[in-house]
Amino acid sequence: MKLILLGPPGAGKGTQARRLQDRYGIVQISTGDMLRAEVAAGSEVGLQAKAVMEAGQLVSDDILIRMLEARIAREDCARGFILDGFPRTVPQAEALDAMLKGKGLALDAVVELQVDDAALVDRIAGRFTCAKCGAGYHDSFHRPRVDGVCDVCGSTEFTRRADDNRETVGARLAAYHRQTAPLLPYYAASGKLHRVDGMAEMDEVARQLTSVLDALPEAEVLTKS
Ligand code: AMP
Repeated sequence: MKLILLGPPGAGKGTQARRLQDRYGIVQISTGDMLRAEVAAGSEVGLQAKAVMEAGQLVSDDILIRMLEARIAREDCARGFILDGFPRTVPQAEALDAMLKGKGLALDAVVELQVDDAALVDRIAGRFTCAKCGAGYHDSFHRPRVDGVCDVCGSTEFTRRADDNRETVGARLAAYHRQTAPLLPYYAASGKLHRVDGMAEMDEVARQLTSVLDALPEAEVLTKS
């Protein structure tokens, strides 16, 4: 099953992608995580991307397309994948279509997580993540049960993204509306676009998502295998 989760920063794409990964046994591909790993490693791509990411702008299509092509060629993508954060521009979407077509494949569904811009700044500004297992938390909405200790793995190390601050969020939302929102009519035209209410509780969003995806013919194949 080959899926795209679309939606602005803070819509819950990463959280929901991790749940889908467990349910369908397909991999989450977060281009934001891949770029952050490049920045942390100090690679050439990381050096080019760092300032752009900190300004809340988009990294160049060329870099992203090359990165994604290498990633989906890997063995663990054979059963399918959930793209989280890619494509973010129409040229990226066109390149993805061409890449899949070249392998005789096609997307199964694109799901938009619909959210109000007004809620996003608060959602993003308080986020933090367990440095060991990646579990997500929030200063106001979802604190660990014991302060400073991850509920999932017990680690006491947490990280905050450099771009999860009120100043940068405005630029990230502007980039979404200018460069990524045009993908909605692009995918609607292909008949693959579904919409889910991203303002609902996390479990309810997951329920809506799985009811869309379970109805796809490809989901049946995955649950049987
Ligand atoms: P994310 O973790 O998806 O919010 O991405 C964090 C940042 O990485 C974005 O604000 C962009 O600077 C960059 N980025 C991630 N994915 C892409 C993409 N597909 N195209 C361009 N830039 C990206």
